[in-house]
Amino acid sequence: MAQNELQTELLKMVKALKGQVINRDSLSVGIDWKKERPSAAGKVKNNQISKEEILKTVHREMADCQLCPLGKTRKNLVFGVGNPQARIVFVGEAPGADEDEQGLPFVGRAGQLLTDIIVKGMKIQRKDVYICNILKCRPPGNRNPQPEEISKCEPFLKKQLQIISPAIICALGTFAAKTLLKTDIPISVLRGRFHLYEGIKLMPTYHPAYLLRNPSAKKQVWEDVQMIMKEVKL
Ligand code: URA
Repeated sequence: MAQNELQTELLKMVKALKGQVINRDSLSVGIDWKKERPSAAGKVKNNQISKEEILKTVHREMADCQLCPLGKTRKNLVFGVGNPQARIVFVGEAPGADEDEQGLPFVGRAGQLLTDIIVKGMKIQRKDVYICNILKCRPPGNRNPQPEEISKCEPFLKKQLQIISPAIICALGTFAAKTLLKTDIPISVLRGRFHLYEGIKLMPTYHPAYLLRNPSAKKQVWEDVQMIMKEVKL
């Protein structure tokens, strides 16, 4: 192999490895690593902990969260689900009744539509991606998230995204897009192109619940999803 090719190969390998592991010292936000050291043998190697373990730690850290009033009304906190190594993370708004009941994101009617987009559209499995929300607890009566709730909950989402460090974030709906991009520009204007969130490409698109009410917008969502698929070479 010529030296140039060898260098290119090595660079590729280093880049790929960088995406697989996280140095625990770079994730100090609110985690007491002395207390939270994972016990399972083989999970700690050269100061590095698997993304799964770090996510579990963040989950444990917020399991009894009472930082906003939703802590009192939730049945279950809905942390997130999927592959900690996912290249695509979907971020929705907040759990609804079904999600609150099961403690899992996107398991109701809108969730079924999101699953169809992933499985039938992208031709991958739900467990291959990671799915979470801006808010981890259900706003009563499915009302809109309040600014105070968003500001208390957002640091946990930030940690999730920092840990997973996906290639693409797909922001589902107005709240996810506006919260992550810190903008008031409507989703209809934001969608259809990539934006940047902390150096990660972010595609805003319509929320599946909006699609249930406005099926004609499925065409635009499919365009956005195809751009994501092209980006991650699906
Ligand atoms: N809508 C969301 O935004 N998130 C869910 O988890 C379910 C419905």
